[in-house]
Amino acid sequence: MKFEVPSLPYEKTALAPYISEKTLELHYEKHHKGYMKKLKDAIADTDDANKPLEDIVLQAEGDLFNNAAQVWNHSFYWRSMKPNGGGSPTDELKAAIERDFGDVKHFHDQFAAAAKGEFGSGWAWLIMQRDGHLAVISSSDAENPLRSGHTPLLTLDVWEHAYYVDYYNERGDYVQAFLEHLVNWDFAMENFLASR
Ligand code: MN
Repeated sequence: MKFEVPSLPYEKTALAPYISEKTLELHYEKHHKGYMKKLKDAIADTDDANKPLEDIVLQAEGDLFNNAAQVWNHSFYWRSMKPNGGGSPTDELKAAIERDFGDVKHFHDQFAAAAKGEFGSGWAWLIMQRDGHLAVISSSDAENPLRSGHTPLLTLDVWEHAYYVDYYNERGDYVQAFLEHLVNWDFAMENFLASR
């Protein structure tokens, strides 16, 4: 595997005012790179050093899983957002959202409920299940839907470190800002098309 986290797909100021430069600085430089450092230290001189990250996420347990999955999850999270995001999906993904949630508003409601309802640290996900249907789930700590055979389309980090600097304890406001102003439907569409 490549031993660095991918570059952020935008400047650290690009998601303000919804996510500040300070949050991205801490979250990307300290948290994301911190998980990568622990992962690198753990797999150095082992067979895992030559495996793709996704294989480690699928196979590892304990701290090795936690660090590998947190590296994967954060790379996926950065791409789940973009400056001037939000709005609605288009084309086939719009049709699938309407088929499985009713409309984009109902998707927002379910996603917000999952993101706010996750007790403690975790993630909210839009996934495609094996049967091709879309669903919203939350996961705790580093848990990743690939382990259950799902295809992730979007994710939102709901660990406190993701929003506390900008929103204090108001996780719901952070979730609404994500859905209304940041969510990257182009990225979700890429994942949706690639999974079929
Ligand atoms: Mn995080």
